[in-house]
Amino acid sequence: MRARLILLSLVLFNVNAQANDPVTKLVKPASAKEEASTQSKDELKPIKELKNSRETKSGELSRQKEAQAADELALKIAERLAAIRKEKEDVSKPVNRPYVRPYTIPGRAASSTSDKTKKSTHPIDAAHWSYEGETGPLSWGKLSTANSKCDLGERQSPIDIRDGIKLDLDSINFDYKSVQFSVLDNGHTIQLTPSAGNYLNVSGKTYEMQQMHFHRPSEERINGKGAEMVAHLVHKDRDGKLAVLAILMEVGESNKIIQQVWNNLPLEKHEATKALSNIDLGELIPARRDYYTYMGSLTTPPCSEGVLWLVMKEPIGISAEQLAIFARLYPMNARPLQKSSGRIIKESR
Ligand SMILES: [Zn+2]
Repeated sequence: MRARLILLSLVLFNVNAQANDPVTKLVKPASAKEEASTQSKDELKPIKELKNSRETKSGELSRQKEAQAADELALKIAERLAAIRKEKEDVSKPVNRPYVRPYTIPGRAASSTSDKTKKSTHPIDAAHWSYEGETGPLSWGKLSTANSKCDLGERQSPIDIRDGIKLDLDSINFDYKSVQFSVLDNGHTIQLTPSAGNYLNVSGKTYEMQQMHFHRPSEERINGKGAEMVAHLVHKDRDGKLAVLAILMEVGESNKIIQQVWNNLPLEKHEATKALSNIDLGELIPARRDYYTYMGSLTTPPCSEGVLWLVMKEPIGISAEQLAIFARLYPMNARPLQKSSGRIIKESR
């Protein structure tokens, strides 16, 4: 048993050494080699001793088999440990909750049991952060270590957009189409999830739309001025990088697309409602395609950075009645302005 444990630790050590070797070799070829050889000599001693003692005994073959099995087990353990470590890393990476969820077929979310298990995470989210009081924006960073960026990030959103560099920016190309959708009240906002197939292309990169949600008042300001509301259309590219298109909303004429979303408001929080009609979010895009762009973050915990923001200059109209419907549900769900810290803002001229 003890021999097996020694072998296990040897194998684990070897796995480690192999993993480190290429790196140390790259940095310090000669000394790394020396180190490796002295290490292996030291480690070989017990192996020789073990082998010698074994040779005097019978049943060497079965012991070897046993040792081999132990080796294999150790390798499996090492692999599993590495996998667990990677999983942990992935989990600790800022996840764009509640903005981006894997796409589920609208409707299935409302009734399936798998959604009921997913739902269990929502009350925790809801309890953990809000827009006022002890769990408000100033506390987000302290509510969970996963939210540290909310406090410590230096490229946070929203910001007051001003002093942009006026340029001939690449146009944003929208490849949106009429698709099925579901609507969810996630406890922080109303969120629409379209089925797959809505793409946005900018600067040679293609992002697929994940979801759209709303804030009142608008989180972003332009030269200090906010709008009544904003729609955030969250997109993700193949590498998982996010691009959020912000469409400011001011009181004006009734908006057909917004009405379609409101018509499908769920009666219960955290239960997605599948709409019976399709929606074409292309109809929501303002006619004038000029925009501001800068690098920022999600505006809700975990406040992950590296988000490309595309803020349309021209607002769209919604009726006072449509605004009142959202205000009744979420009178204030906007994160306060964050420091721009000398970030470059570009804008269409
Ligand atoms: Zn948002």
